[in-house]
Amino acid sequence: MTSTGSALLRLLRGADVYAPEHVGRRDILVGGGRILQMGASLAEFAHAGIEVVDVGGLRLVPGFVDQHIHLLGGGDAAGPLGRVAELTPEDLALAGITTAVGVVGVEMEARGLLLLLRKVHELTRAGLTALMYTGSFRLPAPCMLTSVRADVAFIDQVMGVKTAVSERFYPNQDAAALMQLAGEMLQARAMTGKAAVLHCHMGGMAEGMAPLFELVERLGMPPSQIVPTHVNRTAAFSPVFDHAMRFARLGGTIDFSCCVSHRDGNPTGVDVHDAVRQSLDAGVPLERLSFSSDSNVPAAVRGAAGELLGMRVVPPTVLHRDLMRIVHEAGVPLAQALTLITTNVARGLGLQQRKGALRPGMDADLVALDAQDRIHAVMAGGEWLVQGGRAIPRGPFAPVRVHAAEGTRT
Ligand SMILES: [Zn+2]
Repeated sequence: MTSTGSALLRLLRGADVYAPEHVGRRDILVGGGRILQMGASLAEFAHAGIEVVDVGGLRLVPGFVDQHIHLLGGGDAAGPLGRVAELTPEDLALAGITTAVGVVGVEMEARGLLLLLRKVHELTRAGLTALMYTGSFRLPAPCMLTSVRADVAFIDQVMGVKTAVSERFYPNQDAAALMQLAGEMLQARAMTGKAAVLHCHMGGMAEGMAPLFELVERLGMPPSQIVPTHVNRTAAFSPVFDHAMRFARLGGTIDFSCCVSHRDGNPTGVDVHDAVRQSLDAGVPLERLSFSSDSNVPAAVRGAAGELLGMRVVPPTVLHRDLMRIVHEAGVPLAQALTLITTNVARGLGLQQRKGALRPGMDADLVALDAQDRIHAVMAGGEWLVQGGRAIPRGPFAPVRVHAAEGTRT
């Protein structure tokens, strides 16, 4: 497949479409950043002035929605030499992530909320949908304006607040402060109609998700407004996985993190595909599950006996990697596995009218998978960001042809 650069209308022909449900061979007409039409054949639109792209042999799936990613780089407990660089738009695009919700990490003073908002501006300008949570680990939660409620109410890109629950490093044992924060999200939802998510980093303390059940029982907070993440943990580490099963049955959506994968060296983590399989076997409905990359953080590299060999950076491609592990190792069909990083996440963020599915009216955010499950092409907002497995450089520092004699300046 090739593209002729920017075009007002694009006709993608002959892909095998997962919307995320499998709808089979479809043509898709894209314009104004949206999907305009889908049909078995839209041959009548294939005329001059329209870019026609043959995507036969590829599977088109919705662009991935990653609701927990360290856009600025996390520096968790790895010291000054363990600081991770910021992600580029190309890093996200090559991972198939077309909607990213950034979080502030442990280094919350130096790499704080305003810098994250600036990063969100950069990624948005590069063609992605970039969003963020206000707050961070500690309570009272840091904010940009006068309160976290004001951040959600007045800054479009702020989808809710991140906090830490039952976390040793930030032992937020102040139930009243957590209630206050939750109350602010209830108010923000009422003021704005936004999802105003309480996004909870779950730590390893014995209380597990007890403080979140309190919010549901005492405050009447809808479980759908609370997203507990990093819940794919062994029972030896914390009761949080068990609690998460209960929370999902109450109507909440629970979020697994790729970066705590056991196979990749985290002794307290459960692999995402194992967590998904265990949840489904326990009777948790598929629509109550999601996973996020929690990527661009340092992680330990361990030897066979568990000894520490060094550190590495977890790349955003772990989201796609775990999608495929869910398909091939947990035996979940692609159409169902996709919902965990598309429709289920978009619904939780209140973005289901624009994100997470392929149908007319939705944003034209697509990933094309080849026969080997590799990401072959990515479109965001109707523009190609990846073609032939390579990112298309964008922005002021993209290669520029200055003079024929000088060639390409990079
Ligand atoms: Zn994180």
